[in-house]
Amino acid sequence: MHLDPFELHRPTSVDEVVGLARDLAGRFDYLAGGTDLLPNYKMHLNLRPHLIALEGVRELRGRSLERIGAMERLADVEAESALLAAYPPLGDAVREIATPLVRASGTVGGNLLVETRCFFFNQSQFWRQSLGFCLKADGDRCHVVPQKQKCYATFSGDLAPALMAVDAEVEVAGADGRRRLPLEALYDPEGDGIRRLRLRPGELLTAVHLPAATRGDPGAYLKLRVRPSYDFPELGVAASGALDGGRVRRLTIAVGGAEMRPVRHDSLTAALVGERLSDDRIRALADAVERATRPVHNTFLLPDYRRRMVSVFVRRAVERLREGTAG
Ligand SMILES: Cc1cc2nc3c(=O)[nH]c(=O)nc-3n(C[C@H](O)[C@H](O)[C@H](O)COP(=O)(O)OP(=O)(O)OC[C@H]3O[C@@H](n4cnc5c(N)ncnc54)[C@H](O)[C@@H]3O)c2cc1C
Ligand code: SF4
Repeated sequence: MHLDPFELHRPTSVDEVVGLARDLAGRFDYLAGGTDLLPNYKMHLNLRPHLIALEGVRELRGRSLERIGAMERLADVEAESALLAAYPPLGDAVREIATPLVRASGTVGGNLLVETRCFFFNQSQFWRQSLGFCLKADGDRCHVVPQKQKCYATFSGDLAPALMAVDAEVEVAGADGRRRLPLEALYDPEGDGIRRLRLRPGELLTAVHLPAATRGDPGAYLKLRVRPSYDFPELGVAASGALDGGRVRRLTIAVGGAEMRPVRHDSLTAALVGERLSDDRIRALADAVERATRPVHNTFLLPDYRRRMVSVFVRRAVERLREGTAG
């Protein structure tokens, strides 16, 4: 596998990035750490002739308890013990992403915008051609769910559910200026799996904002994967919350690695506000999240197993939260 030629642009400010994005409309990708994008380019997946490298943009850096720049390396976030202690699901998630080598290059922004995965997509061009290309690259059908409209590739980033659970927001910049939105609003529930983000053309992610309101709340992120030293999540469950006198003041559950986008289950957790977190209530919540989660057969583990593990992981994550022993 080889990398085809592309033109590399190296802006040094967000304004310059936005200008380049406007000029290259639709003919470029942003390059952060490249740990996801470049392997995909080597497999000839949706190549663009231009790459805009974000490495030299200082504004995209910086880590504090309030803000993490999109170009912060995962390994540097992992070294911030105060930050990880303040947001336990983030700590659990970042330590389990890929390998130390990948975390040394991979960035927070790249992780939130990582391409979705499917074992009919993450293959060489030769392999895909021999089977027949699919909707997500070069073709017009889906090998997983036979129809011609939607791609069901799985969102397999670890940070998104963890950050969604602690009410993180993201800041984006584009031709219309800057805006902030809740992280869960970045992933479009109406998307067709190919267009799957609520980003306007050319917009880039500049930072993640962490709220003071959830700082220090107990929580956890639990990850199911085949090889614990290396693999993408086959399922990732984050829980975060706070109890007052044993009753729920706040509780959020977010699930990734299971469907086309990470999903926060607010309609299921809302009913528990003001209630005691009994074993029965936790079990009922876990079963409800499992029923609401529908993986398809496009990753290594069978969807029925992944789905059944949803309730196991939700139960364990909420129990850890209740014990306040997360982290
Ligand atoms: C062996 C291996 C194992 C892996 N395991 C895991 C895992 O366990 N969990 C996991 O979550 N990931 C895993 N990954 C995927 C990937 O390494 C990480 O998700 C990483 O954080 C991606 O970050 P990056 O900076 O390298 O992104 P890049 O590859 O540079 O970019 C990823 C995508 O995001 C876009 N992008 C990046 N930054 C921005 C921005 N600021 N604004 C707009 N668009 C942007 C790029 O255009 C591209 O489409 C693995 C990868 C490998 C190679
Ligand atoms: S889910 Fe279907 S369209 Fe999407 S990558 Fe897999 S085979 Fe292709």
